Amino acid sequence: PAPLLPDEDRPNGLRSVSHIIAVSSCKGGVGKSTTAVNLAFTLAQMGAKVGIFDADVYGPSLPTMISPELRVLQMDPETKAITPVEYEGVKAVSFGYAGQGSAIMRGPMVSGLIQQLLTTTDWGELDYLIVDFPPGTGDIQLTLCQSVSFSAAVIVTTPQKLAFIDVAKGIRMFAKLMVPCVAVVENMSYFDAEGKRFFPFGQGSGDRIVGEFGLPNLVRFPIVPDLSAAGDSGRPVVVSDPTGPTAQAFLELGAAV
Ligand code: ADP
Repeated sequence: PAPLLPDEDRPNGLRSVSHIIAVSSCKGGVGKSTTAVNLAFTLAQMGAKVGIFDADVYGPSLPTMISPELRVLQMDPETKAITPVEYEGVKAVSFGYAGQGSAIMRGPMVSGLIQQLLTTTDWGELDYLIVDFPPGTGDIQLTLCQSVSFSAAVIVTTPQKLAFIDVAKGIRMFAKLMVPCVAVVENMSYFDAEGKRFFPFGQGSGDRIVGEFGLPNLVRFPIVPDLSAAGDSGRPVVVSDPTGPTAQAFLELGAAV
């Protein structure tokens, strides 16, 4: 995608960030955070300077998925800017590193909090800032889209029939905000066993999405136990097994972004 336009109104901490990428889904549990985190580390392995922002205040998963040495966000006493934590060269900010756990709050409060965390962080110079959206297409997501300018969105879904309707909603939301969807990830698409390929959630919705919306990239990720195990271990699979099949699949997504 084209770099963000220079914008005098952009918050200081985001001035040197070239591309802000939204990773979004309409439902929880489809693998959005897994995708966001592994995409961030894949881009870093491709040589980019990368940050990841966990905007999923209701269920922040970054603290489970990566385990930096220092797990608490620091604030510069003079500038009041937040310093991200860092893991394997990737900068990370999550509500979960603010020592608060997950939020029990109403939408407007959550929107304010997300915006504050995102815009008062000193991200430094980044090629990509990956933003792990809260699931859904409501007010929180809209406010987030309006508070900073996103260069592109990646939508994550699973192959169930209902997912098609959800993805369409997501694509329309981003289209209204002039954010191009550069890829759809069809996660948990299939698994291979006993020399055969199984499609436990059915087939075809990914192709339909690409056909109807003219999206440039559909990336299919299989169901793999290592993805889920790595997610709980604090070390993303593309970091622990950088030449494995999952890392290869993420390279395809990295190239799409
Ligand atoms: P979301 O952010 O959409 O709520 P997560 O990324 O937290 O979803 O994933 C939900 C659960 O599914 C996690 O335990 C994760 O490790 C697991 N998971 C995600 N994608 C896969 C996959 N392709 N294969 C196996 N497990 C997966």
